[in-house]
Amino acid sequence: MAAPRVTVIGGGLAGLTAALRLAEKGCKVRVYESKGMLGGNLASQPLQAGGEIDVYPHMYQEWYANFWKLMDDIDVDREESFKPYDCVYQMRRRTETPRWSKLTRAYSARYVFQNMFSNVGPWPDMLVFGFACLDLLAERTMPTVRLDNLSLTGYLDSRPYMTKEAIAAFETFLTRIWALPAKLAAAKDCQTYLRYCLPVGESDQWLTRESAERTIIHPLARALERRGVELVMGTKLSQVEVVNGRVTSIGLQRTKLDPQRYEWIGTGRIRNEEVDQLLLAVPAEVLSHIVRDGEPGRRVVDFEESLHELVQLSAQRVPILHLHFKEQLSGIHWQPVGLYGSSLNLAFTDLSQSWEEFEGHTMLALSCSEPAGLFGANPREDGFLMMRQLADYLDYETGEQWGESEQIDWDRTRYHGNNDVRLSLNTVSAEHARPGHSPAKIRNLYLAGDFCHHHLGMTTMEAAVSSGIAAAARLAEDAGLEEIEALYPEVWPDAIYTTVRAGLGVAIAARVLSEGIPFPGRDSDPDADHESILSYLLTPGLPPRNRRRRE
Ligand SMILES: Cc1cc2nc3c(=O)[nH]c(=O)nc-3n(C[C@H](O)[C@H](O)[C@H](O)COP(=O)(O)OP(=O)(O)OC[C@H]3O[C@@H](n4cnc5c(N)ncnc54)[C@H](O)[C@@H]3O)c2cc1C
Repeated sequence: MAAPRVTVIGGGLAGLTAALRLAEKGCKVRVYESKGMLGGNLASQPLQAGGEIDVYPHMYQEWYANFWKLMDDIDVDREESFKPYDCVYQMRRRTETPRWSKLTRAYSARYVFQNMFSNVGPWPDMLVFGFACLDLLAERTMPTVRLDNLSLTGYLDSRPYMTKEAIAAFETFLTRIWALPAKLAAAKDCQTYLRYCLPVGESDQWLTRESAERTIIHPLARALERRGVELVMGTKLSQVEVVNGRVTSIGLQRTKLDPQRYEWIGTGRIRNEEVDQLLLAVPAEVLSHIVRDGEPGRRVVDFEESLHELVQLSAQRVPILHLHFKEQLSGIHWQPVGLYGSSLNLAFTDLSQSWEEFEGHTMLALSCSEPAGLFGANPREDGFLMMRQLADYLDYETGEQWGESEQIDWDRTRYHGNNDVRLSLNTVSAEHARPGHSPAKIRNLYLAGDFCHHHLGMTTMEAAVSSGIAAAARLAEDAGLEEIEALYPEVWPDAIYTTVRAGLGVAIAARVLSEGIPFPGRDSDPDADHESILSYLLTPGLPPRNRRRRE
């Protein structure tokens, strides 16, 4: 049988992984990518002064089994190309003490006591923080609430032992450093994520030592070319035509960069191309348009109605400011830092301490996970708003507007709104809208992307790689090719978590104790003494204290 011809749309991690695995099985693969570069959310933008910078300083977890296997397969050496780290930091405002606190190997039992007394929050609240993680895992076999309907914050608020400082710790690490808003993220997906993190709690996490392009995307593109994969950039898919339950052709259009909006827009006429097998690995929002566009009766949704639901999946941009100082600031940690209580949900990583090309002067990749708070009239004003909030934490002169401060290297400092690269949000109640890898009613169509339905729950690079493998595996199976194998991260037996839940009394005691411990920000809370744990337990109809406090 002749090897299938596969057209892959989308040159992000999911599409490129699928292309590689299919080419390894002898398929003739062509990839179309709408932008002028590969990588999607992991792409790097070239800088005028040379070099490049990433969408976000991505963090790589030890349990990313398929991602690390992919790195091995394309000859990327982990020790050489990635830098291990074992802690993340929380930074408080200049007026508060302690300024810095750190969480070390947050998922490791050995560091429980160290983390409890790390000053991220008062020690009883840190005990509550740890217990809440295990309690969430115990929900798998001993449900007490309907997790499907709850965000992570909603779940935390539902726990009788919960405290304000424990929620604040989740906010620092999930919303700010992981850039995933805890108030939107489905508790169920966070549960799945935690399930994979705990068994590797003793291991390091990783950052790249230079751009994602040089570390991952370039070696991956070379490996694809060695396998004969054709990579076509600057061309976007605009339509898919389905006849009798089979994709027959696709519409393609050249693109060009609109430098004002930093968007790749279609230009010129749309040309049609016949396809044999089609694998779509584009973001959910794009897919949602593509399946609904075209001549009625020949659109994807005319055959696979459930894909209408894609419209319910959401994504959020995470603007980033690459802030170059003229000098090296002292006392800044190189690991990821979340800014406690930041209304813009700011976090930063000092790349000058990890990337050789920025050595010698501090360069912060400062991200904002609350983009709605950026009300500037233009990108520079938005960047300046971020700078001004950062100055509440870091001692430096901002000036009155963009371009004024003497301490900043303005020629190199750049703000990116990241409109074109959005983080898929694992929002509550959207699970049913996540598509599988091969729509049942269209024989030669396959789907990949971090938003697809998969065993990993949360949006991560491992989810993107795994979804690429899963879609490729289905295609290979349907075409009668050799099996494409996927790896699954280790998990612990659920009995461990249900046993730990027996410590509920300790968590409740910790909450009571926490109220007596002074901590920055706590004394100014007018509601602090107004509700006892007993009244909370006896009057579940009342808004929980924690929710009222944050309003
Ligand atoms: C701000 C941010 C921070 C993140 N941090 C982390 C982290 O620390 N750790 C972690 O594990 N994960 C992180 N992620 C998630 C990770 O980056 C993604 O899960 C992963 O890169 C998604 O890959 P993908 O291939 O599924 O999608 P994408 O990367 O979105 O790829 C889709 C590709 O399709 C292309 N495309 C779109 N439309 C068309 C069209 N019509 N025709 C042709 N091509 C098209 C796009 O240009 C893109 O290249 C982060 C993501 C963001 C945005």
